[in-house]
Amino acid sequence: MRSKLPDVGTTIFTVISRRAAELGAVNLGQGFPDYDIDPRLAALVHEAMLAGHNQYAPMPGLPALRERIAAKLARSYGIAVDVESEITVTLGATEAIFSAVQALVGAGDEVIIFDPAYDSYEPAVRLAGARCIRIPLQPPTFLPDWDRVRAALTPATRLVIINSPQNPACSCLSTGDLDALAGLLRDRDCRVLSDEVYEHMVYGRAHASALAHAELRARSVAVFSFGKTLHATGLRVGYAVAPPALTTELRKVHQFNTFTIATPFQHAIAGYLAERPDCGADLAAFFQRKRDLLGSLLGEVGFRVLPAAGSYFLLADYSSFSDEADVAFAERLLNEAGVAGIPLSPFYREPPSMRLLRFCFAKRDETLREAAGRVMRWANAK
Ligand code: GLN
Repeated sequence: MRSKLPDVGTTIFTVISRRAAELGAVNLGQGFPDYDIDPRLAALVHEAMLAGHNQYAPMPGLPALRERIAAKLARSYGIAVDVESEITVTLGATEAIFSAVQALVGAGDEVIIFDPAYDSYEPAVRLAGARCIRIPLQPPTFLPDWDRVRAALTPATRLVIINSPQNPACSCLSTGDLDALAGLLRDRDCRVLSDEVYEHMVYGRAHASALAHAELRARSVAVFSFGKTLHATGLRVGYAVAPPALTTELRKVHQFNTFTIATPFQHAIAGYLAERPDCGADLAAFFQRKRDLLGSLLGEVGFRVLPAAGSYFLLADYSSFSDEADVAFAERLLNEAGVAGIPLSPFYREPPSMRLLRFCFAKRDETLREAAGRVMRWANAK
């Protein structure tokens, strides 16, 4: 049988998590919290099911939830979003990305993505029949060189996928970056897909959302994730925000892809946002403390930690331990020290020279300490 994605294997996140579980390793690889969610959210899910909210929700998402999302966007970014025609609840941000790409590009089209690119972008583009033009972000800043983007634009460019905070590089775009992108796309028939799932994990400054940029807003689909904001990646509830014409196209795919999202979860999240309208506002402080804790622990054991501007990951340079390539070092750290991290090179077409692993700090403090202790014992035994 002909494979449509012959070179695609199981994602590095799944592979590393599976291996970490087999080895009983401390898993700072795949991004997910290891602490409890707010019990109030769990109670609201339970209440929603007992109240009988167990049948199909409306295709675009439960109106009560979309209203809460609009209120949240107004609060976060001072923008007005139409509940009926601009918000679609999706099966996590992953579905929002996949459905948006299928809706917006096709055979012969080019899509600009930035390496290290989150691993779901390129397969989605290829399954749509389009082709990725990959522009590398260089360490240590991992920010776009807009002149390179200008040079990569062609009449076939139909979509640029941006991701801020960036996963796995932890960099954040500024308003100036969004201005530069808007300037490049002016008068072009090209849309933007803005992956903003780590919107509330930006440190020391405000998140620059594509939705808050008037010019980009008109051509963008922005995607968000309740899994990240509510510390519950298993919820698989996200949403896409886009002008009505783009939303119409997105929903044509969404309705045949996932159709609707789990009804009790939508009720529960709507109820939770009603009780906690400022939900997400405390995440930057919460995660900055964890970022700084893991950063200092890893620094003490010999890593050189890069300042993470955003996301719940940080990058650590392991040159003081080894000069081997990142995939080999990640394997060694997992097998010998019992600590899982994610190498960056699999996210590049042409990886630059670097000795970096990505570690997730959305973990209990004890977990972060245990990971550092294991690295310390391993380094001392070498
Ligand atoms: N977003 C998660 C991460 O970056 C991975 C999710 C997945 O495994 N697909 O770690």
